[in-house]
Amino acid sequence: MQPGPLLPYSRHAIDEDDIAAVTAVLRGDWLTTGPAVRAFEETLERLCAVPHAVSCSNGTAALHLTSLALGLGPDHTVIVPAITFAATANAPRLTGAEVCFADCDPENGLMRPEQFEEAIARVRHNGRNPAAVFPVDLAGQCGDIETIADIARRENIAVVEDSCHAIGAEYLRRDGTWAAIGSCADSDITVFSFHPVKTIAAGEGGAAVTRDAELARKLARFRNHGVNRETAQTQANPWYYEMVELGLNYRLSDINCALARSQLGKLDRFVAERRRLAALYDIQLTALAPVLRPIKRSVHCRPAWHLYSVLIDFDATPHTRGQLMHALEARGIRTQVHYIPVHRHPYYRERYGETSLPGAEAYYRQTLSLPLYVGMTDSDVERVVAALTDLLGIQSLKRGLAT
Ligand SMILES: *Cc1c(COP(=O)(O)O)cnc(C)c1O
Repeated sequence: MQPGPLLPYSRHAIDEDDIAAVTAVLRGDWLTTGPAVRAFEETLERLCAVPHAVSCSNGTAALHLTSLALGLGPDHTVIVPAITFAATANAPRLTGAEVCFADCDPENGLMRPEQFEEAIARVRHNGRNPAAVFPVDLAGQCGDIETIADIARRENIAVVEDSCHAIGAEYLRRDGTWAAIGSCADSDITVFSFHPVKTIAAGEGGAAVTRDAELARKLARFRNHGVNRETAQTQANPWYYEMVELGLNYRLSDINCALARSQLGKLDRFVAERRRLAALYDIQLTALAPVLRPIKRSVHCRPAWHLYSVLIDFDATPHTRGQLMHALEARGIRTQVHYIPVHRHPYYRERYGETSLPGAEAYYRQTLSLPLYVGMTDSDVERVVAALTDLLGIQSLKRGLAT
């Protein structure tokens, strides 16, 4: 029996104005490749303070388009932090590029600059060419991306920030200014996802943003079958187009774009509410330290929390993580693990053998993501904290000491 409604680890927040925005498209002339697409992209450009946004089917498609636009292929190796969703590694792999997994900070799962350098050394040691790095803004906070970008520039490595978790976050640059995630001040391309579990929901949706007009043109062309309509002959022959490279259909429909644009209008409110809920968890969970503690905050970032992830010392608890998750589920509380280190998946194990990444392994052993979403109430947070306090046995331990 569960005391109260089910709390998922994440979910979307849709209002009547979102529904009205989608309905307006459904009543109009364009369901795809219409004006809602460009309108969404322009809103995203303004929000990120970046000149080019290219929408696409989902975050994975954005990573794949990015890998194609950068010209990645079998001669290249891409450095990817081990703690991420598999798509960060799979997308470059789909171009034939190889992946080298970098270790991560055991306290927050972010790749540190020295871990990036260690991965570069490993790639070179194998006689390979490190062509790109895909740092991940795990849970909605970024690491020291300015230093990572400095190293990348020095080594002639492209930077693709996987910010699928971090729309709305800002980071502190060395000159003392705050830059929006997606401004591409320290990346060639930054990638977002608008899957409903993320901060902004499009149903399915993604985007790649960049300051580089040539990369933007390539992203848009790979999104649309590799077709070029701006040829000398098109003027005289209106039907004429040329397929100039091997592309895909990764377009995002006007229906999805209208929803995403309507949602973007609420980004500030969504981010503020996620921060407020995270701060409430922080305060209420202090009693469970040191067995349970929030992930380490990055000093480089004003985060936009997609996940509220904690670290639990399961050696000091009566439950395994699996048992704890089942027990929470029985109380209507859904949790998730972000993520199984990507190098541990059978596909990558078979390709690259066993890789020792102790920081990523330590993070994975301890991490658990608690419910966090807009629409969650303070008493929902209290319910999660009460269940954890009960199940982790801390209350009973204290009672045992008192008697
Ligand atoms: C969600 C996610 C993706 C993929 O986005 P989709 O829209 O689900 O394809 C890629 N990387 C990270 C870190 C993600 O969280």
